[in-house]
Amino acid sequence: MRTFFAPLAVLCCVTAASFPHGSCLAESDSSSPKQSIDSREAILLDASPTALFQQVRTWVSAALEMSITHEIQFEAVADLAEYAGVDLPTDGNERGIFIEGEKGWQIFVREGLPTPLLLEVIAHELAHAWQAGNCPGLQRIDLKEGFAQWVACQLLKELGFSKEYTALEARDDFYGESYRLVRDLEKGHGRDGLIKILKEID
Ligand SMILES: [Zn+2]
Repeated sequence: MRTFFAPLAVLCCVTAASFPHGSCLAESDSSSPKQSIDSREAILLDASPTALFQQVRTWVSAALEMSITHEIQFEAVADLAEYAGVDLPTDGNERGIFIEGEKGWQIFVREGLPTPLLLEVIAHELAHAWQAGNCPGLQRIDLKEGFAQWVACQLLKELGFSKEYTALEARDDFYGESYRLVRDLEKGHGRDGLIKILKEID
C-alpha cells in the first residue's frame, strides 16, 4: 500500500476565517464542466464534499488535461487515520489522503474543512491519483508533493482564491519548497514538459 499525505494545518488556520464553512460550488448538470467551476459566482451554499469532489475531478480532467479513469471511492471523514488503516506520520495534521490499496483507490478528506481548503485538498489528492495511473515509476517525494500542490494552486487561481494560493505558494515548509520546485519546472519547460519530466523521472 502506498499512501500520500497532505499536512495543511497552517494554511487552514490562515484561510478558514475568510470564507464561511459550508459555502461550496454548485453541483454541475452542465455538458460544459469547466464552465461550472471557473467562476467564484458558481459558489453556492450546501454542495456536499462529494459534489465538490466530482466538480474538481471534472475540472482537473478538462482544464489540466489530467484524465483519471480509475474508479475512486471518496468520503469526508472525522478520523483519517481510522480510514487510512495506517499510522499517519504528521501528528494528526493531515487533511487528506490518497490510498492505492487492496480496496482500490480511495481519497479521504477531513470533514468540516472550509471550502477553499477542501477544494485544495481534493485537488492535491486527485493529483496523487493521477500520478498513480500515469507516473508509476515516480519516486521523488518532492516532485510528487510539489506537483500535487501545483495542481491545487491552479484550481485556487482558477477560482480566484488569491489569499489561499498566495499562502500556498509562500509556505515555508517541505510542501512550499516542493511546490516552488515544480512551479519553476513548469515555467521553464511548460506544462507538457513538466508532465514529461514526471513520467520519465524515477
Ligand atoms: Zn500529498
